[in-house]
Amino acid sequence: MPGEVHVIDHPLVQHKLSLMRMKSTSTSVFRNLVSELSLLLAYEVTRDLPTHRVPIETPIARTTAPVLDGKKIVLISIMRAGAGILDGMLQLLPSARVGHVGLYRDPKTLVAVEYYFKVPKEMTDRDAIVVDPMLATGNSAVAAVDRLKDTHPRSIKFVCLLTCPEGLANFHAHHPEVPVYTAAIDSHLNDHGYIVPGLGDAGDRLFGTQ
Ligand code: URA
Repeated sequence: MPGEVHVIDHPLVQHKLSLMRMKSTSTSVFRNLVSELSLLLAYEVTRDLPTHRVPIETPIARTTAPVLDGKKIVLISIMRAGAGILDGMLQLLPSARVGHVGLYRDPKTLVAVEYYFKVPKEMTDRDAIVVDPMLATGNSAVAAVDRLKDTHPRSIKFVCLLTCPEGLANFHAHHPEVPVYTAAIDSHLNDHGYIVPGLGDAGDRLFGTQ
């Protein structure tokens, strides 16, 4: 499989994901879990952020300590389910800018159709983290990153909660240089484009629209 994939197998991540998979989990609990899990994924996806040392004074002594370089991060949420991830990530990255890509899946062809696109100005200075809970067929993710590349961000990473071999293969066939961060790679896609065993429709479970 071409392309970089990071499976975040931290026990807290796996535990929260298991709770999210359960069909008995309520909308409010599911929403909290997405937020908590996203915060943990944000921690991993930002692991390579550069830092530099600055002089500081503690109550005890003068020293130097590392702080983040003023990296300009933009979180790109694929609507609508990306909104759930955004919330958790912004807790860790409160000064990140946010862009939105509106795509829906044609239920018959499963092809992604764009209906909204709004990102911050000066994307060439920014590092983009694209978020969508489910990398299933990969069609929406491919289309979102295609569109994002028109704005020439400095770098792109993709974060999802769950994916499958088909989605990863499709995504990396189109965007081999974009690393994917996920909590799990499930068995396969079913004929309706759902991840198996998965967690059902992430948008419906987040917003209670089932
Ligand atoms: N989108 C979802 O919300 N769930 C899936 O299993 C696949 C795509």
